[in-house]
Amino acid sequence: MNSFQLKKNISLSNFTTWRIGGPAEWIAEPKNNEEIKYLIHWINKKKISCNIIGAGSNLLINDKGIKGLSLCMRQLKGVQIDKNTGVIEVFSGEMLPTLARRAASYGLHGLEWAVGIPGTIGGAIVMNAGAQGHCISDHLESITTISLTGEHQLIKASNLNFRYRYSLLQDEQLIVVSARLKLQPGHPEKIRQITRENLHHRVRTQPYKDQTCGSVFRNPEPMKAARLIEEIGLKGFRIGGAEISKIHSNFIINANKASSYDVQELIKYIQKKVFDSYGILLETEVKQCGF
Ligand SMILES: Cc1cc2nc3c(=O)[nH]c(=O)nc-3n(C[C@H](O)[C@H](O)[C@H](O)COP(=O)(O)OP(=O)(O)OC[C@H]3O[C@@H](n4cnc5c(N)ncnc54)[C@H](O)[C@@H]3O)c2cc1C
Repeated sequence: MNSFQLKKNISLSNFTTWRIGGPAEWIAEPKNNEEIKYLIHWINKKKISCNIIGAGSNLLINDKGIKGLSLCMRQLKGVQIDKNTGVIEVFSGEMLPTLARRAASYGLHGLEWAVGIPGTIGGAIVMNAGAQGHCISDHLESITTISLTGEHQLIKASNLNFRYRYSLLQDEQLIVVSARLKLQPGHPEKIRQITRENLHHRVRTQPYKDQTCGSVFRNPEPMKAARLIEEIGLKGFRIGGAEISKIHSNFIINANKASSYDVQELIKYIQKKVFDSYGILLETEVKQCGF
């Protein structure tokens, strides 16, 4: 018996941190492997496409919505932590900040940087999320996946071609189901303190309470996208309801009922201005769906 509902024509704006996006033709939030397999069978029978969503914290969804099934993974929960070995087995719908806090409370060191990144474990692995010189792949041993034809696979982290905000999973349609991480035992109070400080730092330096998707552009290493945008005086610039944050220029905030069109136009505008000034084409970090 499946516990999820297969819903039709549901707005995806509540499935993204930007609160932007048109309707999903179909949406489901599976809670276990059997439900995922059922849904794969269903999409293959109906011959429709499948789009995977984690916490939607790195997604720009078209105002026109997404055809086929939006498979939202945030209900696929469960975590086991071995305090002595530092091994964590976690389902992909667990939230990264929750895991980071739990690891800290167990005195495990390695995820102190992750506490303010509002994504799921699955999304973090696909994006190789990171901060302050650390990233999720530093601690990842392996993942399990299900393909859209229903095959299970265990993949070692070393085969995922991790780079700055990149993994091979961005080019393959595999559903990340679970992950095995290994952290190091450390000093509990020190880990908790660093975790707290990292969160405070974010709240001070990023528009943390606004509706955003985090950094819109990849940093053109060794430069910072925020610095380039700020230097040409674009802080606070707005198109429609989308505004370049006055606190952190690599963030676009949904200031007033922004549409995906507003955000896209603002992205293009920033790219043109930065290119005209520096000859650098900023690439987006945010993933665009349904365009
Ligand atoms: C306030 C704020 C701060 C942020 N700070 C940072 C930061 O410091 N560093 C950083 O790296 N990012 C940051 N981000 C961006 C974002 O949180 C990360 O990229 C995060 O890892 C995305 O996870 P998600 O679950 O939201 O994925 P989504 O945005 O839902 O999806 C991202 C991609 O992963 C795919 N995906 C998601 N789950 C699965 C799965 N289970 N199986 C297969 N594919 C999947 C999606 O199809 C999509 O291609 C920030 C975002 C916000 C809103």
